[in-house]
Amino acid sequence: MKVKGCVYTFPMNLDIPSTFQSIWQATTPETNYPALEKDLEVDVVVIGGGIAGLNAAYFLKNRGLKIAVIEMGKIVTGTSGNTTAKITSLHGLRYAYLREHFGQDKAQIYGNSNEWAISELQRIIQKENIECDFYQAPSFTYTNSPDDLDSIKQEVETAQKLGLPASFVNSIPGINLDILGAVRFDHQGYFHPRKFLLRIAELINRDGSYIFENTPAQDIKESERCNVQTPKATLLAKSVVIATNLPFYDPEKIFSQLERSGSFVIAAKPASIFPEAMFIGTRGKDMSFRPHKNHQERWLIIGERHNEMGMGKNMNENIETLAKLTKEHFQTDQIEFKWGAADTMSLDKVPYIGRMPGSKNVYVATGFNTWGMTTSFVSAKLLTDLILGEKNDWESLYTPKRLRR
Ligand SMILES: Cc1cc2nc3c(=O)[nH]c(=O)nc-3n(C[C@H](O)[C@H](O)[C@H](O)COP(=O)(O)OP(=O)(O)OC[C@H]3O[C@@H](n4cnc5c(N)ncnc54)[C@H](O)[C@@H]3O)c2cc1C
Repeated sequence: MKVKGCVYTFPMNLDIPSTFQSIWQATTPETNYPALEKDLEVDVVVIGGGIAGLNAAYFLKNRGLKIAVIEMGKIVTGTSGNTTAKITSLHGLRYAYLREHFGQDKAQIYGNSNEWAISELQRIIQKENIECDFYQAPSFTYTNSPDDLDSIKQEVETAQKLGLPASFVNSIPGINLDILGAVRFDHQGYFHPRKFLLRIAELINRDGSYIFENTPAQDIKESERCNVQTPKATLLAKSVVIATNLPFYDPEKIFSQLERSGSFVIAAKPASIFPEAMFIGTRGKDMSFRPHKNHQERWLIIGERHNEMGMGKNMNENIETLAKLTKEHFQTDQIEFKWGAADTMSLDKVPYIGRMPGSKNVYVATGFNTWGMTTSFVSAKLLTDLILGEKNDWESLYTPKRLRR
């Protein structure tokens, strides 16, 4: 969804910027990769230049394969350029649900794989020496509703049994919210997603691997090799990864198990010192917030989920509501950036990562359920292993084959 460049005025006395643009895009340069003009053969074509596509390309390239990433617009300007970028394995309330619906072993895979993702991200930041405003911080799922307190306690108990870094707390110093209880996960983190991903893109785009922008995939023809058709040229590859958030090529209709969910976000200057921690409420419309800082400046990133992402009046009203909540809870009206974005949700709350149903050499990663910062690393690792024919136990949880259950 494109919101950049829309201009609105607000009747109330809050200092809200007129233009929609994420802090991540406003504080990094625009990219300028060429469009694909000539036919090309590589080992793997990755379609989509967000965090799922770029991480997959980076992992595959590091295993010696030649990659072409094609992006219909500019890389990291879709959902990944408009996220809140909390890096956590605490995905709201997820583990008690997974244990009940998928069993203990699969809840364990979910926890292990997302915890692995957090350490893998830190390993890559260190190995590649990437300046991306990464900080470690605990992550909280909180409630101020007595009705949700048991779910919080159940989540802590389940997560502890799975060996995850979970504890129960009934107060959080330094934030102005009535909290009855919260799940706390330690050793989580947050970062600047574009600073990280633009460097990853530079590392991909060399030694016989490429990034092409303004190059939409129009169709895929599958036989022994796959043909990916774009407006001016065709790519030939053994394997194709579809990382377009909502799959554009979908022979067995994964989309019937998916839905879109939108959120609005603002970045404000905090009025006082904010705890080094990240938060999300248990209720669908509760706020999600985290700090962001670099060497010079500090911000608070605050988001609120809305199922409906229409342009115009609703966007104005939703941002205005978020600004009022920010003023009420964080005593600041210094809002510097506002934006909106949508992510793809899977109806069973588990991402679809693996071989595309009905395909031999086409793979997909979708349905990240607003937790793509870790699940994109999970998908990059799992898809790399599948493409190389290596065993990965995570497949049993994430496989898109469960469509046929
Ligand atoms: C407001 C908001 C806040 C969030 N906060 C968090 C958070 O704190 N922590 C967390 O873990 N997750 C968070 N998420 C979720 C996370 O941001 C997403 O799951 C993740 O960014 C999705 O990445 P992606 O690569 O799948 O999609 P995208 O970043 O959208 O990338 C897909 C790309 O594919 C391209 N494309 C589409 N069709 C084609 C085609 N035919 N040919 C070529 N290219 C194509 C698009 O242009 C796009 O650039 C949040 C999501 C939202 C909306």
